[in-house]
Amino acid sequence: MLVVMQSHATPDEVAQVLEAIKHMNLTPHPMPGATRTAIGITGNVGAVDPRTLEVLPGVMELIRVTKPYKLASREMHEEDTYIEIRNPKSEIRKVQTIIGPKTFTLIAGPCSVENEAMISRTAEFLSERGVRLMRAGAFKPRSSPYAFQGLGLGGLEILSKVRRRTGIGIVTELMDTDNADAVEEVADIIQIGTRNMQNFSLLRRVAKSGKPVLLKRGMSATLEEWLMAAEYVMAGGNYNVVLCERGVRTFSDHSRNTLDLSVIPPVKHLSHLPILVDPSHGTGKRDYVAPMALASLAAGADGLLIEVHPEPNQALSDGAQSLDFAGFDRLLESLKRLAEALGRAIN
Ligand code: PEP
Ligand code: MN
Repeated sequence: MLVVMQSHATPDEVAQVLEAIKHMNLTPHPMPGATRTAIGITGNVGAVDPRTLEVLPGVMELIRVTKPYKLASREMHEEDTYIEIRNPKSEIRKVQTIIGPKTFTLIAGPCSVENEAMISRTAEFLSERGVRLMRAGAFKPRSSPYAFQGLGLGGLEILSKVRRRTGIGIVTELMDTDNADAVEEVADIIQIGTRNMQNFSLLRRVAKSGKPVLLKRGMSATLEEWLMAAEYVMAGGNYNVVLCERGVRTFSDHSRNTLDLSVIPPVKHLSHLPILVDPSHGTGKRDYVAPMALASLAAGADGLLIEVHPEPNQALSDGAQSLDFAGFDRLLESLKRLAEALGRAIN
């Protein structure tokens, strides 16, 4: 259910509605908009009796939300959501970058943190090009228990050091609730990987975090299941969710996964959340990354998550799909040209 307040409703009237919702043992989610405030209601197993709220001063109307996901739906929140990422270096935590449709946000970096030198080199390379967010995993979900599993807490330490020194924002994966406090401290965006999209205890934990969450699509998840996973995070009070398409499992074996760019328009139709695309995991081969990155921009995505490594052939994970610095520069040039033609700016 969604309570739409009148445009001239006073803060007191909004507060009164919030109180009434809590009194019904439900959870109110106030969403201030450009012209009026709306209040989402969750927690109801059956239908809410609309009359109790309809009669309160300042209330314009009550709308039943038909989708199973509520807070993630465009029915509940018509305007696009913009996610603010704060600057890791500035004392007052100035806004470093904003993810949303007005710009096209690039997040790039190696699959894994391997050592401090390669993280520093990558952070410096990206910063010089104006990229404000670096991806790199300290905890790696690997298909084989014998493969490099990431440096764990040591990897987070490296990220923390480089973050403080260069001011680049960090996107890094959280694999289990045990490491949540440690990851939360270093990450400017907490990544939830494809294998954990429906790890509900993990989703409940990041719901309590003050940090934005990058929610990768489960490799066999439908759009509805994906948005329901976002709903877990939002229902727990964290509205800062960025979706990330990274390819799904199909019968095709010409690429590592099948990058489902056709999901972008329906995401935009059904949800107000921003969506990024990861063409690196989506294709698995570096030669295919640039064409799919450009296609993502053309299809209306809000940005990219790209694997870049100073020496891809020496990488401890996902080298085959990682661009080297020269490859990233070439991609950046093409993205800039396409963005200009589409009237968008690279962030
Ligand atoms: C990654 O981003 O390095 C990663 C492991 O991604 P995914 O969860 O999409 O496989
Ligand atoms: Mn990877």
